[in-house]
Amino acid sequence: MPYDFQDAYVISEIRKRGAKKVLLQFPEGLRYFSTDISKKIKESLPSVDVIISGDSSWGACDVAEHEARELGVDLIVHYGHSPYTWYYPKFPTIFVETHSDLILTDKMVNEALKLVSKYSPKKVGITATLQHVKLIPRLKSKIEEAGIEVEVGKASSPFMHEGQVLGCDYKAGLNVNADVYVNISGGLFHSLGLGLATGKPVIKVDPYMNGAEDISGEVYKFLKIRYAKIMQAMSAKTWVIIRGVMTGQDRPLMVKFLESSMRQKRFTTFVISSRILNLETMRNLDRKDIDAFVVTSCPRLPTDDLYTYEKPVLTPGETKMVINNKLEPYIFPW
Ligand code: SF4
Repeated sequence: MPYDFQDAYVISEIRKRGAKKVLLQFPEGLRYFSTDISKKIKESLPSVDVIISGDSSWGACDVAEHEARELGVDLIVHYGHSPYTWYYPKFPTIFVETHSDLILTDKMVNEALKLVSKYSPKKVGITATLQHVKLIPRLKSKIEEAGIEVEVGKASSPFMHEGQVLGCDYKAGLNVNADVYVNISGGLFHSLGLGLATGKPVIKVDPYMNGAEDISGEVYKFLKIRYAKIMQAMSAKTWVIIRGVMTGQDRPLMVKFLESSMRQKRFTTFVISSRILNLETMRNLDRKDIDAFVVTSCPRLPTDDLYTYEKPVLTPGETKMVINNKLEPYIFPW
């Protein structure tokens, strides 16, 4: 398996806690391996009932606590994420970090160095997603060998690794005042978020593609779309504030803050709770006197999923820009 599922740790935790029925929860990319994991657990602990959750698991914000209660399990084994920055499950849960086995190749390092050098940076910041944080020290020393200062930022919670970022948490980048960032991750999702959050050039080192890429142009394209939405929302008078109901996505204080700030501006507000928000659910709750939406559950829904919606759907950070009537700086995500 290309990931470390920490079978020995999981089995010893289930045994130690005396759990009789466990729920295994995987993000999309890792669920493929779920039956192998279940088999291994059952081989070591034949008297334990093992259930695999087939539902989505978007992040550590999305621990299957309701499902676990419904099924009457004793323990959730949540794979692929460290505990969420702003929420720790109330249900007994163990988090299995599931690091990738992919290594940092010379090709990745050389390509990254070439792209970084284009910017003649004084300081480079390195970040990574959880699966690849173990590659940070080697990349750091390689960039330092090229005579460039490198800093790896402290993450925002003690549960996270130095340099670790989430789709909605870029503290490890923001804590470092770098001129350029190098982010180790597959896909565009986290690198894009890092670019939006820091406003600095981002080089993506992709262990799955065995290469590096400057994605700053992509970030700029996204920013143009975001500014178009913000400008559209500047004249909005009636707002819907989406409140999340997934355990880690419910942010009542943020909802209160937005509601009271908008009321001070004499805007009309409605709070609508939602577990899954997509174009279809948006269309079903929309009506003609609603001008704009702000999503407080997952800030990646407006930027990555709902950007084609006819009316502006903003993140909390973007909504603060509208409330404060300030176009600079771009605030992402909160
Ligand atoms: S980006 Fe969205 S899905 Fe990912 S951890 Fe943050 S709130 Fe959860």
